Amino acid sequence: MEKTIAINAGSSSLKWQLYNMPSEEVIAKGIVERIGLPDSIFTIKYGDGEKYEVVQDIPDHDLAINMLLEQLKALHIIASFDEITGAGHRIVAGGEHFKESAVLNDEQIKLVEELAEFAPLHNPAEAKVIRVFQKLLPKTLNVGVFDTSFHTTMPEVNFLYSIPTEYYEKFQARKYGAHGTSHRYVAHRAAEMLGKPIEELKLITCHLGNGASISAVDGGVCVDTSMGFTPLAGVTMGTRSGDIDPSLLAYLMEKLGLTDIKDMIDILNKKSGLLGLSGISSDMRDLEHSDDPKAKVALDIFADRVRKYIGSYVTVLNGVDAIIFTAGIGENDVAMRKNIIDGMSWFGCQIDDEKNNVRGQERIISTDDSSVKVLLIPTDEELMIARDVEALKTK
Ligand code: AMP
Repeated sequence: MEKTIAINAGSSSLKWQLYNMPSEEVIAKGIVERIGLPDSIFTIKYGDGEKYEVVQDIPDHDLAINMLLEQLKALHIIASFDEITGAGHRIVAGGEHFKESAVLNDEQIKLVEELAEFAPLHNPAEAKVIRVFQKLLPKTLNVGVFDTSFHTTMPEVNFLYSIPTEYYEKFQARKYGAHGTSHRYVAHRAAEMLGKPIEELKLITCHLGNGASISAVDGGVCVDTSMGFTPLAGVTMGTRSGDIDPSLLAYLMEKLGLTDIKDMIDILNKKSGLLGLSGISSDMRDLEHSDDPKAKVALDIFADRVRKYIGSYVTVLNGVDAIIFTAGIGENDVAMRKNIIDGMSWFGCQIDDEKNNVRGQERIISTDDSSVKVLLIPTDEELMIARDVEALKTK
């Protein structure tokens, strides 16, 4: 049977999932962690709960992928490399060029590399991995699935910043968004669950994980999203600040004696958000188990920022049919979902406490008479990637 592998490569990791297509059956998945560091961890889960794990130095992605392919054969998950007819690669920045998933030839891979300016940690590593696949599996179709593509439908009104227009024209300084594959997946799944054509629905999708973003989706098309030029913007996140007044940067740099703006941005990316507010942890679970008043403030700020975005997107969409929760917090945090929705009862949106008392299980969690449906949908970016590869294979 033909197989497609969905790849999510970071600068020091490689997550993957192997599907039988078109049946969409997951036959194996795994992760290579600490690539380039001592004691890299190579894991494959397959079959009936079986697991293969090895700890050894894996200096680069080239060896990681080589090991992966050889091990798939050794474990009899595949009989030959030829079975893997498609590889879908998650790519963080697609800029304005990649409006949808695309087959990656040499020219397209170069474009991915050129977009490194927008995602310096991700795009170069992703391009490298695609080249390794080209080399090791020359017959396999490589497809790029971009985090930004779903957001390329945003109108100018929502993607332009209120700064001189020439900065957009000359330097492409605009809002790009992120998590697009997840927002796209849950929006389409929501339409199926609600039994309505997506073209008729106004949806607000809340991807709430360590990174978090919210999108306004009108008729299946993204019209606005909370992340910005980079994933630093929007709601409060695990370690990222989300939206702040840019003048604060100059003020704080002076107070902290910082001279390089990169150090300030680093603080906003890595030491802010829930971690910065609580001084305890970036992890929602740790804050919910803490008695520290600062943890409580961090939780309240998180809920407040999510609510404000939902509220503003009700206005952007001029109405809303359903609000969708996904990702680590959205899928598992019963109390946070309730906290967010209970604070917005003014438009008749109501959580059903019993239905909401569930983790990671797809379902409608609003009351039957709620004016706006609330849905819990576990995200599945890998499946979306595999589907995009399949669609381009058969094109
Ligand atoms: P992600 O980045 O999608 O993996 O999400 C990570 C976030 O989800 C972290 O803040 C976790 O604390 C949160 N999370 C995962 N499981 C739970 C849970 N059972 N209850 C509350 N938060 C959770």
